[in-house]
Parts: sequence; structure tokens; C-alpha cells
Amino acid sequence: MKQALFDLHCDTAYLCCDKGLGMMENGLHVSLEHAPFSRYTQIFALWVGDEYREEAAWMRFLQLYRYYQTRLKPALNDYRREHPGFHACMAVENAAVLGRRLERIDTLRALGAAYVTLVWNHQNAFASSCYDARDEGLSALGRDALRRMNACGLPVDLSHASEKTFWEICERTTGPVLASHSCARALCGHPRNLTDTQFRALCALGGLVGINLYPGFLSFFGHCALARAVDHIEHFLALGGERHIALGSDMDGERMPSDFCSVGDLGKISGEMRRRGFTKTQIHAIMYRNAQRFFENNAKWVMKDVV
Ligand SMILES: [Zn+2]
Repeated sequence: MKQALFDLHCDTAYLCCDKGLGMMENGLHVSLEHAPFSRYTQIFALWVGDEYREEAAWMRFLQLYRYYQTRLKPALNDYRREHPGFHACMAVENAAVLGRRLERIDTLRALGAAYVTLVWNHQNAFASSCYDARDEGLSALGRDALRRMNACGLPVDLSHASEKTFWEICERTTGPVLASHSCARALCGHPRNLTDTQFRALCALGGLVGINLYPGFLSFFGHCALARAVDHIEHFLALGGERHIALGSDMDGERMPSDFCSVGDLGKISGEMRRRGFTKTQIHAIMYRNAQRFFENNAKWVMKDVV
């Protein structure tokens, strides 16, 4: 397949860690024998759930990171030797891993994280989540964390953020921001999705938005085919997002559309864009180039040290 793929977010790594699996024939959505792409970058989110807080959250992160380094990375490297267009990188989902120690932000940057998602489904020491009944936005510690992330150039991920958190970050940030796995709220009124105003704000900041493939975020009905993702892409395109739309599949984190079996099926999204008359340049931008440009400009290590 000549298609290129850059996926901003999958949860494969924690499943591999908890089940003792590798990168090939693991029965998961992301299994490398199912990745027939000419160029392929996969960002593996190291997700730490809200049941972990303070030091327990840091320990859980270290457990995932060690597994990624020792069990997954060698396999990713082997794959890369045979497929030079392949890159992989880890990211951190939930700043709760920091405990309250901001110097760990520098550690995450040094370990090569592509981005840090500030908050997951419940408020942490840094920020409110989109699911919290009371939206308190960023805490004082959250503001300090943002400053520290900006200082070391670590991209801030606003997926899962509450509205107040989102807007405070947009106002204060002096560094790169993205929403790694979020869709358009205008097409599916879910709190995890972005309003048009939020999407425009991310574009204005040179940010990136990865379309999430979970049917619960794509469709009001909670089930759909992969083609539905293209409705969200078209919506964001109409808002001027041509250089800011990417994919953030959420593979291995969520249920996927009805015609999805494994990562290779993401090629169906470009097929659908072709069918709807998108230009080759537009398709390549959304499937690969926009994300590549974002990391080239903001976090070069993602495409370099990877694996
Ligand atoms: Zn998530």
C-alpha cells in the first residue's frame, strides 16, 4: 500500500504490558503484521488511569515505560530495520504521573515523550477534566506545570480537558498544543469532543487535532463505519483546518467502528476521502503530513530518536 499513516494516539502499550504481549501477532488493534503502510508513525500513549495518584501514578508510569523500552522497543526497532518509513514514539496520558514533582516534566522530555495529556477522566492535581461536574480549570500547580512544559518544549495535549482547562491553556501557553484524540462536537455532542471555537483556537495556535475513531465520539448513535470519521474531517476542513487535522485513533483504548479489524483498516479512511473528491495533497496531509510537520516544528525528537 502506498498510503502513509501517522497516528497520534493508541493505547496498545498498556495492554501489551498488562497481558505480557509483544508487537507482532498480539491479537490487538495495533499489531505490526497488519500495518501495510509505506510510511507509518505510531505514537503509543502510556496511559495511567485515575486509580493511580501521587507516587503510585509515577510507579505505574515507570512500569509501562520499562515494558515499552525493554519489550516493545526492540520489536519496533526490528520492524523499523525492515521498514525504514516506520517510526514509533511514546507519549504520556495523564499528568497525574508527575505526582506533584514538576522536575519530572524534564524527565519525561528526556525520555522522549511526544506529548503529555494533562488530565484523564477525573480532575487531578493539575487540571479539571471534561467529565468533572465542577470545572475548576487549571490549578496553580497546573499553571506551573504548563510553564515547565513550555520551557522544555514538551507539547501539551488537551484531549480530555474541561472547557476552562482548555481555554486557560490556550491563553497562557507559549509552546505547542494539540488535542491528540478528539472529534467535532458539532457532529456528536459529547463532552470529549471539541467545539468549533475550540478547534479554531487550536488552529490559530498552530496546533493539531487527531480524529478519534471511537464510535461513541463519532456518532450520536454510538455505532458507525470508519467513513463517519470523514464527516468529522470535512467539518474541521470547512473551519479552515486543512493543515491541522490528523488521526488519533484511540486503537486498543476504545471500541472501533464496525468495518475496523486492525490498524491496516485505517487505509479505508483515505479511500473514503478519495471517494468524496479530496485531493491527493489533502489526503496525505490528514493521514500523515500535518502530524509530521507539527512534530518536525515542535518536537523533532519524535521523528528522530524514535526507536
Ligand atoms: Zn484518552
